[in-house]
Amino acid sequence: MTEQEQKQQQKRIEPCEINPKFKYEVAKMHGGEKLMRCFQCGTCTSDCPIARFSETYRPRQIIRMAQLGLKDRVLKSDTLWLCAACFTCTDRCPQDVEVASVIRVLRNMAAEEGVVPQVFIEEAASILESGYAYRIPELRMKKRETLGLPPLPKGNVESIRKSLRGVSIMKCLEKKSD
Ligand code: SF4
Ligand code: SF4
Repeated sequence: MTEQEQKQQQKRIEPCEINPKFKYEVAKMHGGEKLMRCFQCGTCTSDCPIARFSETYRPRQIIRMAQLGLKDRVLKSDTLWLCAACFTCTDRCPQDVEVASVIRVLRNMAAEEGVVPQVFIEEAASILESGYAYRIPELRMKKRETLGLPPLPKGNVESIRKSLRGVSIMKCLEKKSD
């Protein structure tokens, strides 16, 4: 763990950081209803495949921050975006907390506030532009030709745009293009 990460983890909670209404905001969203059932057993973290390879990603901590009302801290946390949405935590939580869904709710809230890591904004922009999650280099296309492979199918950008209408990350893209 880097020194900076350690400092971040150890940062004291200041009373002004606590938003007592936040847990209710999360709990009224679909998937966030059982947030307050968490009793911090740590099963979600111990079974999470991402936590196994990360020194900072801990779903139990994310749930606790949400319970405590640390809205800014949790919404601005980069680790929030590391979840792979595999639902292992949800399956194994003894309290039936829908951990993966709570994380989705928190991500949606972060996106509403325009706090999305640049890499996801770029990915979303690429999907909107081409239908592919990343821009495929011209060189790769030429290589396909030389190997006698057919061109890649064109993404249905219109249909993607329709599906993404109203999705929070679109606001971040709109802000970016302003
Ligand atoms: S497994 Fe469930 S109860 Fe245990 S820490 Fe995770 S969310 Fe909380
Ligand atoms: S859904 Fe996310 S938090 Fe839960 S186990 Fe999978 S990667 Fe970890």
